[in-house]
Amino acid sequence: MSNFDLPAAFEEYSEARQAGFLKVKEAKEGGRRVAGTFCAFTPVEILDAAGFLTVSLCGMSAETIPAAETELPRNLCPLIKSSYGFYLTDKCPYTYFADLIVGETTCDGKKKMYEMLGKSKELYVLHLPQGPDLPYAHEMWTAELRRFIEYLEDTYDVEITEEKLRAAIEKRNVMRSARCRLMELLRADTPPISGTELYTFLDGIGFNFDLDDAIAKINNLTSSLSTHKSEGVTVGGKRILITGCPIGGVFRKVVGAIERAGANVVCFENCSGIKPARCMPDQDAADPVAAIAHSYLNIGCSVMTPNPRRMETLPALVKEFRADGVVDIGLQACHTYLVEGHAIRQLCRDNSIPYMALETDYSTADAGQIDTRIAAFIETLGE
Ligand code: SF4
Ligand code: SF4
Repeated sequence: MSNFDLPAAFEEYSEARQAGFLKVKEAKEGGRRVAGTFCAFTPVEILDAAGFLTVSLCGMSAETIPAAETELPRNLCPLIKSSYGFYLTDKCPYTYFADLIVGETTCDGKKKMYEMLGKSKELYVLHLPQGPDLPYAHEMWTAELRRFIEYLEDTYDVEITEEKLRAAIEKRNVMRSARCRLMELLRADTPPISGTELYTFLDGIGFNFDLDDAIAKINNLTSSLSTHKSEGVTVGGKRILITGCPIGGVFRKVVGAIERAGANVVCFENCSGIKPARCMPDQDAADPVAAIAHSYLNIGCSVMTPNPRRMETLPALVKEFRADGVVDIGLQACHTYLVEGHAIRQLCRDNSIPYMALETDYSTADAGQIDTRIAAFIETLGE
């Protein structure tokens, strides 16, 4: 058993994250390997089957951006800069502890950043096909996942059997179903929980690496909220659906503004919300690798071209969660989401769904302006 030191910046983190760091540290000392990931397209079932503990390394803080800008262009998405800044400054214990970083060819900024990151960390980049309906896309992604399995087996001397893959698919599907059931509580006329409470809880649970415990905690919250609902503890106001880029770094600014304006987020369509949670591999499929490949290709992210899944899912989710309006969040310099914003605006117009687009970054400079714009948008939704 070896000992691992935590980086000096550890003290700066909140209690919940510190608990996660300590669990990773313990896991490492117990001989467990850690894989850092950046994207909802990363097939966590394969990493589970290889015995890795998986943690998201997406940077959600403005703090490390100045350091990143010493090497990266300023005109780059804040998520990429923040993530790279954490790596450069050694401020993220998860990055520090990661034995392996798994990247993917999604947006150009990320894939070029991975090349830099790979200079001093073990890095594996998954080549994701970006035309999900091309006749060879499924086959290509399946082949890519098999190549990943071979790499893990050869590099880490592990055996990834069909049995282990099936068990991982089953466990992750239980987790996804639990997340969906919790999120679906917000379909109620008066939801039992606010968007902030929901997002904060689900974000925190991502740092609980004991999947059984995490599933139990989600299910406990769902059943206790179902009881509260019958006791009349609810959140009212206009109902908003959030779509667009990952929002961890702008969460307080944007969702806070929606709530300050008296509305509530009832659905997070983006990649930390319901979109990937509903893409479940078929656990009874004859070929588990092909089943994993198939389910991940259904994630309607703007890096896909065209991106029909998002166009189909968005109006359906607005109906399901009875959203009064859509707020489309584009992080500055995220070309794929910002350009796709035009099609989303048109889609909402065609479906008579009130829509607003927000382009922002991780700074607080535009917080006042966002408050004003969101309050004005909520007002247009009427009483
Ligand atoms: S928005 Fe798309 S590319 Fe970015 S993390 Fe989510 S799934 Fe991956
Ligand atoms: S938000 Fe956009 S630019 Fe930033 S990492 Fe995700 S897809 Fe890339």
